[in-house]
Amino acid sequence: MSDASLPPALERLARLLGRLPGVGERSAHRLALFVLSQGPQYAQGLGAALHELHDLVRFCEACHHFAQADRCAICADPHRDPALLCVVEDVPDLLAIERSGEYRGLYHVLGGALAPLRGVGPRDLHLDDLVPRIDALQPAEVIVATSISVEGEATASYVQGQLRGRELRLSRIASGVPQGAELEYLDGATVGRALRARTSFGRG
Ligand SMILES: [Zn+2]
Repeated sequence: MSDASLPPALERLARLLGRLPGVGERSAHRLALFVLSQGPQYAQGLGAALHELHDLVRFCEACHHFAQADRCAICADPHRDPALLCVVEDVPDLLAIERSGEYRGLYHVLGGALAPLRGVGPRDLHLDDLVPRIDALQPAEVIVATSISVEGEATASYVQGQLRGRELRLSRIASGVPQGAELEYLDGATVGRALRARTSFGRG
């Protein structure tokens, strides 16, 4: 991907933009020209935002969502209901549930799903601190919102096994979510319906 007629600085920007998901060569050039057309202030703001990204953003020490302090905005929000804990695979799933506007509890982001065939075991996910966190929070309900796929189901079963014997309601987001679907690609209304229609899969 290069165009010898463009100044190297523009070409470099286009090359970097071309690595973004869904951005092809033509779009990358169009975006680079757009950034240039917006004037120096916009370009500097964009540059500063990118420059600071890794310095400012870290993981929430409680739930592993992205944060700009020790705790993320959700864990730090006193209006969130600590009686509800929703276990998700990744941050885009959390964002999909937030978009539904149906959920006011806390989250636990696993960082993926169990996939023994690909070498992803419990130690590769944030499963080790899930049970201690639940013991500390004592939520009335834990909603397992891992994907409706073989890996998502295996992860849900593992969580269920870990929580056996605890006094809490364990539920599974399922109804309305198509087989194999990932929450992040569903619209807010569908995610909301799936949350409302969650089914109990036993007590802890
Ligand atoms: Zn958090």
